[in-house]
Amino acid sequence: MNHPIDGKTNGPSLTWPGGARIAVMVTFDFDAQYLRISRAASKGCTIGFTDFSRGQYGPHEGLTRCLDLLDTFSIRSTFFVPGIVVEEYRPQVEEIARRGHELACHGYLHESKRGISLEEETAILEKSEALLMSITGKRPVGHRGPESIIHPFTPKLLAERGYLYSSSMKDCDWPYLWQQDGKLLPLVELPTDVMMDDFTYFYFTFSDPAVRAMYTNREVIGNWKDEFDALAQEGNKIFVLKLHPQMIGRGSRIKALGEFFGYLRSRGAYIATCEEVARYVLEQRKGDLA
Ligand SMILES: [Zn+2]
Repeated sequence: MNHPIDGKTNGPSLTWPGGARIAVMVTFDFDAQYLRISRAASKGCTIGFTDFSRGQYGPHEGLTRCLDLLDTFSIRSTFFVPGIVVEEYRPQVEEIARRGHELACHGYLHESKRGISLEEETAILEKSEALLMSITGKRPVGHRGPESIIHPFTPKLLAERGYLYSSSMKDCDWPYLWQQDGKLLPLVELPTDVMMDDFTYFYFTFSDPAVRAMYTNREVIGNWKDEFDALAQEGNKIFVLKLHPQMIGRGSRIKALGEFFGYLRSRGAYIATCEEVARYVLEQRKGDLA
């Protein structure tokens, strides 16, 4: 059975464990300097030193604060990590896994190029999966396109490679199954949006490509609380928070994020990793997939 993807319709009769009205996934894109390197490359330029240095704030400083805060609230999170970040910051990625968080695929070089071939994407996945497996010992089951860019063949390719979910789309507030040629794939999409992304509010640079955003912590947390409340009121929705240790990992922002986590807990949200939510959705929809 299919349901319209129109952002107004509740999920296909999904209810969350414990009767929770909303499932929250706290996710991190652990991109380090490759966030900006790939963005610049896609615009035909190179990054300046300050962008490079700010990217390093994630692995050097911000990540530890993020991990400590997650421990404080007993939240298990999903980290999307490009393969090259595993190579360059291996102890940090090992620490993420050691503390019980999920590692998921996010390109090798954080490639955000449009129009690549199936063969190119397959090679990127193979390389990145092997690096993540070298840390966890198991194949990743989740994928988020760098800059949320995926290709027409990506969902089928992910399903064939044993992935359970993708988290690149922005088209609705509930998880759905991808389709290929009118047939459902056993691949769950967990959409998010720029309004739940710290990059939208906190990236400020004079270097090309220029981005100049600097909101107060109160405004950002206020937006997230309002969005969470609205979706929870509708019921059966998901809220995928998308964070970057290099941005959210600043001292005062982590303090504000802690306030938000406390709010989520006080409202009884079901907080889980993307893998847990995807497995739950696949179990609920196994009749449709049979
Ligand atoms: Zn990224």
